[in-house]
Amino acid sequence: MSKNIKLVHPRDQITEVISRIYKRGMTTTSGGNISIIDDNGDIWVTPSAIDKGSLRASDIICVKKDGTVIGKHKPSSEFPFHKAIYEARPDIKSVIHAHPPALVSFSIVRQIPNTNIISQAKHICGPIGYANYRLPGSEDLGDVIADEFKKGFKAIIMENHGTVLGGSDLTDAFERFEALEFCARTIVYGSQIGTPNYLTDDQIDEFEAQATGVLPEMHKTEYPSDEVEKRLEICKIVKRSCEQGLMISSYGTVSMRWKDNDFLITPTNVNRWDIDLDDIVQIRGGHREAGKIPSRATWIHQEIYNRNPNVNSIIMTQSPYLMAFGVTNSYLNVRTIPESWIFLQDINAVKYGAHFRKNNNSEIVDNCPTALIIENDSVIITGDKLLQTFDYLEVAEFSAKSIVLGNSLGEMVPINDEQVEDLRVKFLS
Ligand SMILES: [Zn+2]
Repeated sequence: MSKNIKLVHPRDQITEVISRIYKRGMTTTSGGNISIIDDNGDIWVTPSAIDKGSLRASDIICVKKDGTVIGKHKPSSEFPFHKAIYEARPDIKSVIHAHPPALVSFSIVRQIPNTNIISQAKHICGPIGYANYRLPGSEDLGDVIADEFKKGFKAIIMENHGTVLGGSDLTDAFERFEALEFCARTIVYGSQIGTPNYLTDDQIDEFEAQATGVLPEMHKTEYPSDEVEKRLEICKIVKRSCEQGLMISSYGTVSMRWKDNDFLITPTNVNRWDIDLDDIVQIRGGHREAGKIPSRATWIHQEIYNRNPNVNSIIMTQSPYLMAFGVTNSYLNVRTIPESWIFLQDINAVKYGAHFRKNNNSEIVDNCPTALIIENDSVIITGDKLLQTFDYLEVAEFSAKSIVLGNSLGEMVPINDEQVEDLRVKFLS
């Protein structure tokens, strides 16, 4: 989707985002609805009772400012609360409502997820409101939701129902939705293996205060074909990570070594689902491509490439099962199945803050392991080819998932030292 979202028709924005939400398992075929209010005051909204898995742009309904309905279906039955939100909050231009499983877990136990569970979510989601139960589709439900939005919230848990989020545009609303559901999943999975730890507001402020774009700009940038090829590879892996639930819009950095210690890296503050070739930033001789702001983590990538000649690609991301370990101080023992140990060996965790430039970073950048967890922040995966590094990420996430799921069945019995030694001799020497 074009990053100049004003130039993408609301119909096309809505179909693209509903398809992402459906593919990521955050709505069912019949549940959930999205709307956008345009500059004329007309509201574009998903239709009532039409398959979310195969929605087309021509299915989207327009409810004109005067109430006239244009389109081949009826507007969503929850249209009244979408309208009520726009009336209450002129700064909100798009609304997403759905019943994603982890947020519904919170909604049915009548709790609000604490977004201090990972570094960027508090900033993305803002404080979270809570709307009491009302009959779906009723004006009454519209009133209780609009009342919460009037208090300034942009994200709300709906009691025994789901969630509703607003944004300055649909991309903004989707980032908030995805980040909030991610927090909920991380807390739920983390609670199955331990007790989640939350960041303090000061720790989050430290994260937000990190400088970006500190490298000097280059005067002239060259784009040989091998450089362009790497851009393409990075974009493909970022998109695939989003589609597989291994990265969310608001967090994640991917880089590839180009030649010597020069590399290509994803930018800061660009929705990861929409990353395109010309967003990728070239870093050469300690300079950045002119006019672009590379990821805040660029210096970590540079240090890893400088000190680890065998590392040629890096993925830094948040995935829900790995983060379950990252928020609970639980040791992720990948001696689960041979493949996991062969690929990953032992995965350690470093304290939150070890990824800030002002602190000591030696645990991250020296003798870089294949996988390393940064508490309440992310996981860093390194490897040779980027596809292989992505595979390591998948294996790590699967291993974490197996342990979380297995935990309710009984105690995990890891592969023993002798078996590990056999694997080392056969596969790693
Ligand atoms: Zn609903």
